[in-house]
Amino acid sequence: MRVDVVTIFPEYLAALDVSLIGRARKDGLLDVHVHDLRDFTVDKHRTVDDTPYGGGAGMVMKPEPWALSLLSISEQSPAGARPLLVVPSPAGQVFNQALAHEFAGREHLVFACGRYEGIDERVLDWASESFDVLPVSLGDYVLNGGEVAALAMVEAVGRLIPGVVGNPESLVEESHADGLLEYPVYTKPSFWRGRGIPPVLLSGNHAKIAEFRRTEQFIRTAARRPDLLASIDVPSLTATDRAA
Ligand code: SAM
Repeated sequence: MRVDVVTIFPEYLAALDVSLIGRARKDGLLDVHVHDLRDFTVDKHRTVDDTPYGGGAGMVMKPEPWALSLLSISEQSPAGARPLLVVPSPAGQVFNQALAHEFAGREHLVFACGRYEGIDERVLDWASESFDVLPVSLGDYVLNGGEVAALAMVEAVGRLIPGVVGNPESLVEESHADGLLEYPVYTKPSFWRGRGIPPVLLSGNHAKIAEFRRTEQFIRTAARRPDLLASIDVPSLTATDRAA
């Protein structure tokens, strides 16, 4: 998969060189390119923002540097692939695991990291001629820029690409994989600072352990994220769940 990130703070994306995503890049599983939006300005001050029409606080990102950067990126798109332009925005669709899976199925993702009051709205309409365009929010709060959102999305998507996470089983049992949160996990020692672990985990009975974990998934989801239970996909429940 090819990933392009356009930002006025390329150094923010240095985290993409680290850990699993960094290794995936070295292994050629992820082809990541970070672009400085200022490289696509034409004035000597490398200006990327201007005052908002209609007045009001803050500055708005000028459209032309975005057009030039996106044109250059679309020319480098893998043959035959229509790129997906993800525009991080608190006014976008909220990112979740289902969207991460959708993104992981694309050949080319492009992240347009806004700053200030955001990007001139016309850029999204213009870009839709060559990109699928999707404003995406990390959650219901406001960040200073889209870089943290892009990092989070690249990491969530990157780990779904085959070969990025060493043991693919870890993806199956994770929170949100089947609509539920993950069960609690423990490691050695079995008794620590006055606290033990659920005895079933020491039983060696794999069926009982699986049943215990499944129940814990429901208990935890009901306690922490009851909203998830409302949208759970019933066919994803196991035969044991349905019998219970
Ligand atoms: N004025 C904008 C609004 O109220 O919708 C917020 C602009 S914010 C200060 C600057 C940039 O940060 C946005 O253009 C976007 O790229 C990014 N951003 C802020 N909050 C975000 C969120 N929750 N999810 C994704 N990106 C966000």
